[in-house]
Amino acid sequence: MGEFELIRRYFLPLARQQTARSLILGPGDDCAIQHIPAGRDLVFSMDTLVEGVHFPRNYRPDYLGWRALAVAASDLAAMGADPECFTLALTMPAADEQWLAGFAGGLRSASNAFGMALAGGDTTSGPLTLTLQVHGTVEHGAAIRRAGARPGDLVAVSGTLGDAGAALDYLDEASPSPDVTALLDRYHSPRPRLALGSAVRGIASAAVDISDGLLADLGHILEASDVGASIDSARLPVSPHLKRLKGDAALDYALRSGDDYELCLTIPAECWRNAPDAVRKKLSVIGTVESPPGLILDGKPCGADAGFDHFRSRP
Ligand code: ADP
Ligand code: MG
Repeated sequence: MGEFELIRRYFLPLARQQTARSLILGPGDDCAIQHIPAGRDLVFSMDTLVEGVHFPRNYRPDYLGWRALAVAASDLAAMGADPECFTLALTMPAADEQWLAGFAGGLRSASNAFGMALAGGDTTSGPLTLTLQVHGTVEHGAAIRRAGARPGDLVAVSGTLGDAGAALDYLDEASPSPDVTALLDRYHSPRPRLALGSAVRGIASAAVDISDGLLADLGHILEASDVGASIDSARLPVSPHLKRLKGDAALDYALRSGDDYELCLTIPAECWRNAPDAVRKKLSVIGTVESPPGLILDGKPCGADAGFDHFRSRP
């Protein structure tokens, strides 16, 4: 099967699945065309996944297809942007039809779930690597940045933390228990908080998605905003699955492990008081933003957590 046949069979159907409001021309020409309506900003980001670095070797292709778009779309959620479309640069060692069918299936599910159309891409041979560029739009000036946190704001997170990171301990489990299965699902099928991201536009002063762990990613907000924060570990949302499996160590996963793709937000106190119930219900308040730089955990200064760095080994 040649390059063009492969694209036609596996990827063009995805382009027709979704009709992004703003996508004028999808794959097949030299470029795709996206219309940006007057008064809106284009918000875009790129993510690369390398086999053996970002996902295990011989990883299930349908999981990979979902995961690739989910983690890329999570950055749109963190900006409060409405998802529109994406491009896919796919490098793979060979055109294995079974693998392609699985991968395209997972990608199609994600594309439908997030309402994002495939706008185009590039297909090459080489070590398995995926690069996705995601496009979203937002009302002019309304994107939520990392730099907006102010002393007195509340720090809040969505969902539960630590589940996906803890799942890495169980990837090879032959017959996983229900608790382990719940964690594995968090790792294999991350659900970007797109609806929540757009719901907190005008409410959150800063936002980041938690890909590298709460301490590391909250650290990015604090650094960009030139503030500090105080966090109360007892308020961290931890799933019953993680608590049962890891006991006292669950807290460490919730603070330091990545791959959850929940949102960490800062919210001015009055915006929190006036926020719709639907938003408040999805968030746990875990602390407050303070003027002195640095992170205080349960009253004690907490060492900086740099998170994952590809060019530096973990401490
Ligand atoms: P060009 O040589 O002009 O850069 P390509 O031959 O790379 O174009 O691609 C031809 C068309 O197929 C383009 O519209 C491109 O967006 C699309 N395409 C290539 N690979 C993919 C892919 N993996 N997924 C979706 N569209 C793709
Ligand atoms: Mg061309």
